[in-house]
Amino acid sequence: MDKISVVVSCYNEQEALPLFYEEITKIAKQLKQAEFEFIFVNDGSKDNTLSIIKELSKKDERVKYISFSRNFGKESAMYAGLKRATGDYISIMDADLQDPPKLLIEMYETLKQKEYDCVATRRVTRKGEPPIRSFFARMFYKLINKISKTEIVDGARDFRLMTKQMVEAILSMEEYNRFSKGIFGWVGFNTKWLEYENVERVAGETKWSFWKLFKYSIDGILAFSTAPLVISTIMGILFCFVAFLLIIFVVVKTLIYGDPVSGWPSTICIILFVGGIQLFCIGIIGQYLSKTYLEVKKRPIYIVKETEEDLKKD
Ligand code: UDP
Ligand code: MG
Repeated sequence: MDKISVVVSCYNEQEALPLFYEEITKIAKQLKQAEFEFIFVNDGSKDNTLSIIKELSKKDERVKYISFSRNFGKESAMYAGLKRATGDYISIMDADLQDPPKLLIEMYETLKQKEYDCVATRRVTRKGEPPIRSFFARMFYKLINKISKTEIVDGARDFRLMTKQMVEAILSMEEYNRFSKGIFGWVGFNTKWLEYENVERVAGETKWSFWKLFKYSIDGILAFSTAPLVISTIMGILFCFVAFLLIIFVVVKTLIYGDPVSGWPSTICIILFVGGIQLFCIGIIGQYLSKTYLEVKKRPIYIVKETEEDLKKD
């Protein structure tokens, strides 16, 4: 019999978790051909999420959990969950039921046919999301797909079912700056895309502010493209060219009209402009350097405080 692991990262999900558990167990009952394992990763929640997970784990032995020592972010939580999963097929889901559990059945049946290694989902609508957020999200996907060789699909969610083989490939990427949407694309394998309309979360609220998403998108660009580094080279060449033309212009003008002292404001403008561009380029290099710094330190991606093994002890 096949085993399906469902990895769920949870951060302050006390309202949504019981509803999620109810739905996912219904699906587990329907899918008789497979046994299930649920891995809840408590990402340093400040509410009752952990005690709810513990209760579930006590009454249902399919429920396993990992609880972090603090909030490490969803990327770390997914990594920890995938590492822990023992199934033949492994799924990643959100706790807020924005990922319809019933799709798991279709995903499992597709993977069974061995043609695909992964069935992933993407939202075709962004209904219920602020228009500015959708606009910037679209821009981000356009940009990153232009400057990165890795394909990053617009509207792709983290919700997917993968074979064990693909999960092992993902786990072999032990980088500290994790951008899963890129990692999933980078490892390759055959992915089938299921499309569905955006579903709003059942309870609780989103943990992503606009600013957090913005920083996340910059992380994505830095992790999967080095194109920004080329900007400084291109600007350098461009400025040399313009400077060359200007020198010729100034020399010819001086030869014809003499040299009255003027042009102080324009000089200052040029100095400020070029200075600004230089700082901008150094900033880009600094961003890559800071990421490199964090990678080189080799800090752990997450720290576990307790798991269901501890629950059995006491
Ligand atoms: N999440 C997490 N750690 C965080 C933030 C979020 O584990 O630091 C989890 C959260 O509990 C949920 C999933 O990631 O299960 C998606 O979060 P959310 O619904 O807030 O994001 P959205 O669906 O709005 O993109
Ligand atoms: Mg959500």
